[in-house]
This record gives sequence, C-alpha cells and structure tokens, in this order.
Amino acid sequence: MLTGPSIYPMNLVVQKYGGTSVGSIERIQAVAQKVAASRREGHQVVVVVSAMSGETNRLIALAAEIHTNPSAREMDVLVSTGEQVTIALLSMALHEEGCDARSYTGGQVRILTDNEHSKARIQEIDGHRIRDDLEAGRVVVVAGFQGVDEQGNITTLGRGGSDTTAVALAAALRATECQIYTDVDGVYTTDPRVVDDARRLEKITFEEMLEMSSQGSKVLQIRAVEFAGKYQVPLRVLSSFEEGPGTLITLEEDDDMEKPVVSGIAFNRDEAKLTIRGIPDTPGIASTVLGAISEANIEVDVIVQNVGHDDTASLTFTVHRNDMSKAEAILQRIAKQLKATTVESDDRIVKVSMVGVGMRSHAGVAATMFEALARENINIQLITTSEIKITVVIEERYLELAVRSLHSAFKLEQQDLVE
Ligand code: ADP
Ligand code: ASP
Ligand code: MG
Repeated sequence: MLTGPSIYPMNLVVQKYGGTSVGSIERIQAVAQKVAASRREGHQVVVVVSAMSGETNRLIALAAEIHTNPSAREMDVLVSTGEQVTIALLSMALHEEGCDARSYTGGQVRILTDNEHSKARIQEIDGHRIRDDLEAGRVVVVAGFQGVDEQGNITTLGRGGSDTTAVALAAALRATECQIYTDVDGVYTTDPRVVDDARRLEKITFEEMLEMSSQGSKVLQIRAVEFAGKYQVPLRVLSSFEEGPGTLITLEEDDDMEKPVVSGIAFNRDEAKLTIRGIPDTPGIASTVLGAISEANIEVDVIVQNVGHDDTASLTFTVHRNDMSKAEAILQRIAKQLKATTVESDDRIVKVSMVGVGMRSHAGVAATMFEALARENINIQLITTSEIKITVVIEERYLELAVRSLHSAFKLEQQDLVE
C-alpha cells in the first residue's frame, strides 16, 4: 500500500509538533516560523500537529462527567476535536508568515483505519490531496492522532498517536525524513525529567527504540517506531524550542566493539500486579487463569509462575492499572473454581527496563543491575528478560532511586563510546 517511487525533485519532510510545542498562541506562531524557514530552505513540508497540551485530557475529563462508560465512537468524535483546533490555528499562523498553507483532518486526507475506536490502526493513506497541495507550493497541515474507518466514522490511534500519523504520512509520501519535534532535544538515556544527568543519544536503533517505547518511554509512540522500522522511514526526534541535531533512529547497528552494552532505561508507572496462590500444579493451569483474563480483553504483560513445597503453584502477572479491578474480579471467580488460597492485587508497582543491543554479546548486565538495586535496598518482585532487555518490577516509591542508581551503575551519563 505505502509504496511507489518518489515523484519529488525537492526534499519532502514531514514535521510533527507535539502538545507542548503548540501549547499556546506564541508556541503556534513559533512553529509557523520554523515551518516557514524550512520552506525557504527549499523543502516541501507536511506538518502534523497534536492538540494543545492538556486538551485531550480535558476532553476525556468532560466525557467522564457525563457518562461512566462513554461510547467508544463518541469518545473518538470528542477527543479528535483537539487536533482540529491546532491545524486551523497553525495554518492561519503560516498565512501570517506569508506561507500558503492548508489544513486537513484525518478524514479529509483519508487516513483509512480499522474500526477499533481509541486504538485504531492505519490501513491506507490517500496522498492525492496532499500531493496536489505540495505541487501548488503549499504547506499541508494534517491533524494527528485521527483517521476514519470504511464507514466514515472518526477513529483515533491511541494516546500519543500523532507520532504514528507523522510516520505513516512520511512512509506514504516517501518523505526524506520524518522529524518529531517535542519538548526535549532528542531521545535520552532515560527520561531527563527523572535523571538530571541523562544524556542525549546521537542515534539509537529501531530495535532499541521499540523496546524503550514498549517499556514506557513516551517520547515516541510504539506504533510510530514499528511503522518507521517497517517502511524504513528515516526518523529523528528534535526540540521545537531550540536548534540541534536531535536523535536519529537508525536501521543499522554499529559494529563498534566499544559501543555501550546498555543504551537506555525505560520505566512504566501504568501497570498493576496480580497474584493467585494455591492453585493446582497441573498442566493447563496457566492457560485456565490467563485464558480467562485474555477473554475479557485484558492485556497481560510480565508473567511468573512458582511452585511451592506443597505442590501447589502461584501465578503472578501484570496488567494495565485501569484493568486491575476487572482482572481481580476474574481471579476471584477462578479462585473459587480451583480452590485457590488467595488472590492479591497491587497497583503501587513500577516496571524498570534496561535496553541495549549490546546485551546480546555481553554477559553480566543482569548481575550489575541486581547489585545496583541491592545496594539501595530495593526489593525485586519480578524479573523478565528478552535478548536486548532486562525488566524488573519494584515498589513504586523506589522508582526514581532505582532509575538514578542504574543510570550511574551503567555509567550512562558518560559520553557515547560510539561517537
Ligand atoms: P509530545 O507532546 O511532543 O508528543 P511527549 O510528552 O509525548 O511529547 O514526549 C516527550 C516527553 O517524553 C519528554 O518530555 C520526556 O519527559 C519523556 N521521555 C520519557 N523517556 C524519554 C527518553 N528516554 N528521552 C527523552 N524523553 C523521554
Ligand atoms: N492529542 C493526543 C494525545 O494527547 C495525541 C498526541 O498528542 O499525539 O494523546
Ligand atoms: Mg507524544
């Protein structure tokens, strides 16, 4: 679907500006100046914008005042309005800059999605209107986060979804680069709001960025990284507030022997932990318990099963905090059937993950990680690993301490060895 040769003699860039970058009239005017400067440099520019910061949350809160369980379709009609405001205001600001510009909602472009309201996936993008405008010398301003299904219903792509709109447009239009402008000047070794001496990375591989995003680094929406990797879209994260090279998300791994083993630390405060104890240690038991959870459409993340001396097992897993009560009710029901002893739930946990492609060829990362946490007396509740990631679940109150200690234990504040 998103293929075909580029028909553009000029460089086409897709620039995405997030909520804080368009959070006030002054910020929108500043964005217009940046876009106009790119035009003057000879680029064709497609701009994707988010709603003004706080707006999407405000709309969700309004719905909550009206209905405890609002219709998913109407929620999408509601929350997509935030982006419609910013596309119009930015286009007007561009006109003020003497730049011809036109705004489009997702439906007007025809960003076709499936009908999974609030987490729709992009299926196809019709680039015709955008191409015509670009050919006519206009800047095209597209509302992020939204699309339309086959029936014409408005859909949204999940929180942070404007990143995905930008990458998908860049893929469809064969853009030279997709630039994600935000309130930090790149991807850091960890969230710079938590660790003061977090360091900006010059580059990071798609694979690592995918793990960072999926483990909770909200600087890029995971779908956007998936899309960029799949369609090989050159992707860069930059600041809309200051000049700088930002961070390039690259396809290839550096072969440099001295590259750091760990590239970054991600964390996720959105999960809760559930445990069912005293269940029979028999084949199929995990499937009985987790099957019931998945039938209720609850996504399960970390899973650990233990067998005790009394030949009974316990099963612990994490889910999104919003799903904790629902999952607990299901476990209570199963506990009766299986004559389990207890069901416990805890939403004061966090997940901390160390990510790095260098882990493939280096042993000892887990040992260093556990030592660093032990030095701070932080108890590890669950552990899970993949080829390029180690994740632990710990008590929420230790989050900042844990991330800071790990950051310094792996010397992440020091200069990148690859540069
Ligand atoms: P936008 O509104 O522009 O989409 P987001 O708030 O979604 O911005 O993402 C930017 C934020 O991501 C930063 O302000 C930062 O706090 C957070 N963040 C989390 N992890 C990282 C990381 N590893 N590098 C940079 N920023 C990160
Ligand atoms: N406005 C939407 C959100 O707050 C989409 C985005 O900003 O990317 O999640
Ligand atoms: Mg975002």
